[in-house]
Amino acid sequence: MSFSSLGLSETLLRAVAERNYAAPTPVQAAVIPAVLRGADVWASAQTGSGKTAAFALPTIELLLTGRRERSREVRALVLVPTRELAAQIAAAAQGYARHVAAPALKIVAVFGGVSINPQMMALRRGADLVVATPGRLLDLVAHNALSLSAVTTLVLDEADRLFAPGFADELAPVIALLPARRQNLLFSATFPPAVESLAKALLRDPVRIDVAASPEVAPAIVQRAIEVDAPQRTQLLRHLIAENAWTRVLVFVATKYATEHVAEKLRRAGIDAGAMHGELRQGARTQALADFKASKLRVLVATDVAARGLDIAQLPVVVNY
Ligand code: AMP
Repeated sequence: MSFSSLGLSETLLRAVAERNYAAPTPVQAAVIPAVLRGADVWASAQTGSGKTAAFALPTIELLLTGRRERSREVRALVLVPTRELAAQIAAAAQGYARHVAAPALKIVAVFGGVSINPQMMALRRGADLVVATPGRLLDLVAHNALSLSAVTTLVLDEADRLFAPGFADELAPVIALLPARRQNLLFSATFPPAVESLAKALLRDPVRIDVAASPEVAPAIVQRAIEVDAPQRTQLLRHLIAENAWTRVLVFVATKYATEHVAEKLRRAGIDAGAMHGELRQGARTQALADFKASKLRVLVATDVAARGLDIAQLPVVVNY
């Protein structure tokens, strides 16, 4: 199987080749032709499966043939649960679309926690592809900064998170603003019953794609549980980092306070550690993640804001504190 057999045009194949992707991943091989055919897709796919390219490449392909943006209209909409994921997906899509002949596709990320004005400016005269968190998207609609009435493709990424309480309230009004006739692509790592029923209500005769479960594509991950008294946890973490010479560790803790507290304790022990949680300024969140990816931080202590979708190359170990 090669990318050139999937039905993508030369401009996109060139961008793919530059990324040195040798062959499509199983999710890509299944999803790309289905999307190009115009089908709805219901895929179970995890981070690392190549799902971003699986929906971004064919969505961009379809945008190339359709009409160009008009006034405040958005042509394709990707909804995601976190700000970092919105930024990451928009950057990936911009990369895939970089050889598109002028006029270039307009791909815009919108998410909360940062000033709304630059996003309003970016959306003037519409956009081909918008990657958004639901809350900020609704704010922009309320400001009349964009119209969702011409969306032809809707992507829900990390859909189980988007359908969870808290998000679901924001999701319903967004979906109500979309035209009834549209293509829907839904990606989720898990499909609990509640997600199943919402997905069924949303999708029209979808192609169901489930490659995550097959053993040949399951990543080789060793899982280990260590019993420890709570007061000794940080000490144990320090010990494990030193003993195993872990170069990069993502540590999940339960509370915002714990992110700061554990990071501070590690720093006092001479380990470069940073904290990431939902109440940090967005600038600080972005910086912490960038520092971690650039190996300026050895340990990132995070709440579940970092639990989904982040593409971090060479992450040898994740600790659930
Ligand atoms: P994702 O699952 O979309 O978060 O992608 C995970 C990582 O895999 C990203 O760094 C992609 O650039 C990379 N990737 C996507 N498709 C391929 C492919 N066909 N071959 C190699 N790497 C890929």
